[in-house]
Amino acid sequence: METQKNQSTTPIVNRARPEILAMKGYSSARSLQTGADTSIFLDANECPFEPFVGAHNLARYPSQQPVRLAVAICDWLDISTRNLTVTRGADEAIECLMRAFCVPNIDNIVICPPTFAMYRQSAILHAVETREAPLNDNFGLDIVAIDKATDENTKMIFICSPNNPTGNVMARDDIMSLCDAYADQALIVLDETYIQYAEASSLVPMIESTPNLVILRTLSKSHAAAGLRCGAAIARGEVTQLLQKVLAPYPLASPVVDAALAILTSKNHRALAAKRDALIERRDRFIPRLAALPMVDEILPSDANFILVRVQDADKFYATCLQAGIVVRNQSHQPRLANSIRISIGTEDEMNALMAALNGDSIEIATDPARTGKVIRTTSETAISVSVNLDRAFPVNINTGIGFYDHMLDQIAKHGGFSLEVECDGDLHIDAHHTVEDCAIALGQAIRMALGDKRGINRYGFMLPMDETLVNVALDLSGRFYLDFKADFPATHVGDLPTDMVPHFFYSLAEHMQANLHISVTGENAHHMVEACFKGFGRTMRQAVRREGSELPSTKGVL
Ligand SMILES: *Cc1c(COP(=O)(O)O)cnc(C)c1O
Repeated sequence: METQKNQSTTPIVNRARPEILAMKGYSSARSLQTGADTSIFLDANECPFEPFVGAHNLARYPSQQPVRLAVAICDWLDISTRNLTVTRGADEAIECLMRAFCVPNIDNIVICPPTFAMYRQSAILHAVETREAPLNDNFGLDIVAIDKATDENTKMIFICSPNNPTGNVMARDDIMSLCDAYADQALIVLDETYIQYAEASSLVPMIESTPNLVILRTLSKSHAAAGLRCGAAIARGEVTQLLQKVLAPYPLASPVVDAALAILTSKNHRALAAKRDALIERRDRFIPRLAALPMVDEILPSDANFILVRVQDADKFYATCLQAGIVVRNQSHQPRLANSIRISIGTEDEMNALMAALNGDSIEIATDPARTGKVIRTTSETAISVSVNLDRAFPVNINTGIGFYDHMLDQIAKHGGFSLEVECDGDLHIDAHHTVEDCAIALGQAIRMALGDKRGINRYGFMLPMDETLVNVALDLSGRFYLDFKADFPATHVGDLPTDMVPHFFYSLAEHMQANLHISVTGENAHHMVEACFKGFGRTMRQAVRREGSELPSTKGVL
């Protein structure tokens, strides 16, 4: 009842569309039964069969606003559930705001370009005019321009902070003074999608004292959960009630709710904080490396997990990246962003691959079609998929079910400088034998396939030292098979990998790659010795598969 009172006393609520204010909003029969002890639901025409998948009760509709998830988000943001609307991504929150407040063909919104595209997209979909108040020369808010752009039909002013794509945070005083100036007239919609990466703090604590402030948050960019589609709008109670009226029915699928709950634990938040710090550190190390390139003119300071780069020729920059299999975002279409590229900060390997592409390391190779091989191999003992790309350093994803073996295959790819993806579902309940051997066969076949006619390759590779362990690897991609493997491992297992499977691995690999391979290793620690074999093999692969022209490295005319 208290909210009823607020509703009539807060003028911003009366700026909602009259038909939305008048409507009751959808309520399911179940949501009306609060308090009653109900357990048999024959109200919603659901299917009584056992659901085919999932631990969640997929046969039933989820709640409109799942209670446990709402509580978890409120704990995270330190707000009350009366301030929260959980949505299908922040994008749906934008849609709901538009639906609740903007009368089609009459009202307008104000955006501050260059900025996120969805505000305008959503306005178009709702027949709402978009007015522009461009950011100032430092990409800060231009309050005078905003005042000029607004009129009595302006219902929302969208502010993105940190702004996508410029990466900067908007001044808190500017935002709060806009809230004040438009208190009775327009919502100030503050999109804090990237605030987790910023030094500045969120304005969420201002919600209760600022009736026309709406803040958008999402798990997409900060919680490694863009695929989840889970976001939130945070606002005073009256505005929250309006948003919930116009939500889609059951906007969050049950598996999404379960996954979001699993993500939003305090343990994960501690882990995320550490990862975020590492990402920021990586961003700050990457910036000077990128800035040193001749094609880069300027890199804007960033408070986000991306950077905006002014380059000499954005189309060329984009094409160079694309040729190496790397997609960046050309932002040149936006006002005052001529020749600007937005680059997300990825993993260390991804950023190194980008630097290599921009340094021209792989450009010559990339003009030839990439050398790829893919093998799918299924027997009664194992089901395996192996993909190799000798001209690209990523992705590297290995999952054989044997932890130490994954680590070793990872070493081959990382030291070999090529992309490798291995998925194996093997009979590990028996032992590791079939999995190790069959993966080696499939890997050998995929490499052989990727090598193709071998034109231009180095063919040979050699490798020697490694700490107290001495490994000697020599490789010839000769088209003939020979393995010489000398090792006396001082342990039967390393992790979950039996050491007698190591020569077996190299035997199967060399056989199916059709290569001559000599490995000898001495040392005192089986872990080091095994690792040295795999690393060493990776290094010799890096040399041997490297293309240095178009000649066939054989006097016989065939390899
Ligand atoms: C990516 C992005 C969104 C969309 O978030 P979802 O929760 O994935 O819908 C919203 N705002 C900005 C500024 C973004 O960059």
